[in-house]
Amino acid sequence: MKNIVLFGAPGAGKGTQASLLAEKYDLIHLSTGEMLRKEVAQDTPLGRRVKDIMLRGDLVGDDIVVNLIAKAIDTGRGTTMDEWDEIRLRRACGLADNEPLPEKPQPSIIYDGFPRTVQQCQMLEFIFRQKERKLDAVISIDVPQEELVRRIHERALVSNRSDDTEEVIRHRLEEYEDKTRPVLDYYKVSGRLISIDGSGEISETNGRLCKVMDALLERN
Ligand code: AMP
Repeated sequence: MKNIVLFGAPGAGKGTQASLLAEKYDLIHLSTGEMLRKEVAQDTPLGRRVKDIMLRGDLVGDDIVVNLIAKAIDTGRGTTMDEWDEIRLRRACGLADNEPLPEKPQPSIIYDGFPRTVQQCQMLEFIFRQKERKLDAVISIDVPQEELVRRIHERALVSNRSDDTEEVIRHRLEEYEDKTRPVLDYYKVSGRLISIDGSGEISETNGRLCKVMDALLERN
């Protein structure tokens, strides 16, 4: 049962790379951004609470995302699954396709877009202690600022994300610098941080990530 955090600024490619890794290594993919967008799309009470915050490009409250993550860990239900995907979950638990799922599944998980504040890191540690999990690695996808801005603008042309406009993008990058970058130092100190170059093509970054994952999962 592995726990791997994929870290990076907006536009670093966390979502794309997390999906690819989840597929290749049989991991449950948890994206707090996707979970929140789903709440907004379904117009739930939580969705109504976070909608304007997300539209402005602010971070939503730590307690909100931590609750979403804690629940998702318990169910083992990934954010890229449209509905309960038992086969994926079995594989993420290291079980054969026909083996029954335990009552409390313990899948390997890749976290995308979480934790994003030092407070969230501390809350995640608390959750892991409760659930007898441990953090195996934090992989940071490093991309220079100009390239991040270029990519988000490019994405804005094709995405229907309402937080991909010029002003909001600038604010999301400011939020990253103020609140999220300190997460890097937090994990650097504990020796769990692995940084990779994410400035190139998707496949190049994926190749670098797979080398790290192979070593982490001892698949060499
Ligand atoms: P993302 O899809 O990861 O870029 O997230 C989109 C938006 O969701 C962010 O700009 C925040 O408003 C919110 N969000 C996602 N993850 C978090 C988090 N871990 N902490 C706070 N806000 C988050």
